[in-house]
Amino acid sequence: MSSDHPVVVTNFIRKIVEDDLKGGRNEGRIATRFPPEPNGYLHIGHAKSICLNFGIAKDYNGTCNLRFDDTNPHKENIEYVEAIKEDVRWLGYDWDDRLFYASDYFEQLYEFAVELINSGKAYVCDLTAEEIREYRGTLTVPGKDSPYRNRSIIENLNLFVRMRNGEFEDGSRVLRAKIDMASPNINMRDPTLYRIRHGVIHHQTGEEWCIYPMYDYTHPISDALEGITHSICTLEFEDHRPLYDWALDNVSVPCHPQQIEFSRLNLQYTVMSKRKLTELVSEGYVEGWDDPRMPTIAGMRRRGYSPASIRDFCERIGVTKSENSVEMGMLEYSVREYLNAHAPRRMAVLHPLKVVITNYPEDQVENLEGANHPQDEAMGVRTLPFTREVYIDRDDFREEASSKFKRLVTGGEVRLRNAYVIRCDEVVKDAYDEVIELHCSYDPATLGANPEGRKVKGVIHWVSARFGVPAEIRLYDRLFSHPTPDATRDGKNYKEYINPDSLHTLTQCIVEPGLAGSVPGESFQFEREGYFCRDSRLGTGPVLVFNRTVTLRDSWTRIEGQQD
Ligand code: ATP
Ligand code: MG
Repeated sequence: MSSDHPVVVTNFIRKIVEDDLKGGRNEGRIATRFPPEPNGYLHIGHAKSICLNFGIAKDYNGTCNLRFDDTNPHKENIEYVEAIKEDVRWLGYDWDDRLFYASDYFEQLYEFAVELINSGKAYVCDLTAEEIREYRGTLTVPGKDSPYRNRSIIENLNLFVRMRNGEFEDGSRVLRAKIDMASPNINMRDPTLYRIRHGVIHHQTGEEWCIYPMYDYTHPISDALEGITHSICTLEFEDHRPLYDWALDNVSVPCHPQQIEFSRLNLQYTVMSKRKLTELVSEGYVEGWDDPRMPTIAGMRRRGYSPASIRDFCERIGVTKSENSVEMGMLEYSVREYLNAHAPRRMAVLHPLKVVITNYPEDQVENLEGANHPQDEAMGVRTLPFTREVYIDRDDFREEASSKFKRLVTGGEVRLRNAYVIRCDEVVKDAYDEVIELHCSYDPATLGANPEGRKVKGVIHWVSARFGVPAEIRLYDRLFSHPTPDATRDGKNYKEYINPDSLHTLTQCIVEPGLAGSVPGESFQFEREGYFCRDSRLGTGPVLVFNRTVTLRDSWTRIEGQQD
């Protein structure tokens, strides 16, 4: 990650931070946090929040904490905690020793709740969940006071201790803030602060607690206890900000962080809700959280996206307060930009067609050279063994074609990349009229030189049949066939928009021999085909497996453009 770029005020949150620094607020400190709930893997939306929070800390000499918001133990687990840590690190950010859990503060949160009860600002309520909902009112109808609202402080303290001690069943009682049942903001109508949950084993606190604090109560206090200065969250929390401030104003916390909201990232052709992503995994629509089609960080890593390109994308989309849906093409642009500069070039034949070069000596092997990168000499060269039999891609041959077809046709010539010009003399077919082999001849004078007296425009890739290595190549397409599968329309569920053709597995590919020595996760440009990476989950298994990261060009935008 480059930390040497000048700090520019690229969005309104950075402007607030700069103004606060200039105004001497918070003794010149900048402290942010990234607060995931460990109930799923991180996705590209989280990456936006990570880049924003960690990015501000880095650029303004501040700190950013990683804090797990773990107040919903029944949906959370340690696998998610570990995956989230790995993903944040992979994106290039470090929380040093500032790893926290909201559950670290359970005892303090309890004490603060007692403080609220003591000052008459919280009470134990025995209404059922359904009754609480009824009493809450609506946007147009004010709520009604709970009959338990005026319990004495002593009674409240006593009941709250007994809640903690496990004397009451789930759902029988809650602790509520005493604010205003007629508030125009429904979040302020005596929101629940604590609920009872027996029989869950919390991944951090085990069976120590049977009452759990609510997010809206936990979050501001956790922020204050950590000395956060700017508590950045997504827009849906805007209406919760009065409650955030109320909590901080009514308990004796050391400071009062400022909540700032921005709009969440929505990406076309995918879903971003953790509930839905969990369903895709648990119902087997994808291979797992790290399926390369998933919008998760783990999926993108496995697909071959680099952390730098994800950070670049997050920078490009900007941070605002307006809701929008970003085109997948923008993310792919950042991915391509990076790979174009950094991925070594290789040759891989996806749909092999055998070519026998009849005038090339049977046992001869020439070690030809190919540049690893056409613009970057420092990346060096690799050896390409050339032999009498090679494979080319079926798509690069036509028995007959118009002159627009610049590849190989019967009787025509083409250059094999980094090698010779060949001519197709004869087409061999099977009983079904399927082309199974081409007999060609090569021109020995054309290695690194133009042929005498004629122009050969086409260049195609190839792999030696004798030295090439078999590989499986997975071609991915969008997971959904609708740009906004999430939006409810015609009563359809997002799963009805799953693209049935999002994965094509090619099992008969042949790749250049050097690729056998690639390492899992390594990225390449397969010339003329796209960017690919060695699959990291299948690692060094018996079969070489490559994932297509992205095509060379944005074919989707063109297809969509044509439909308009
Ligand atoms: P879900 O609603 O699907 O459960 P979440 O927003 O609750 O997801 P959290 O783990 O609570 O997920 O999110 C951690 C942080 O990441 C929060 O600050 C949240 O605002 C932010 N975040 C989540 N999704 C996005 C998104 N699509 N774009 C930007 N920030 C996001
Ligand atoms: Mg959340």
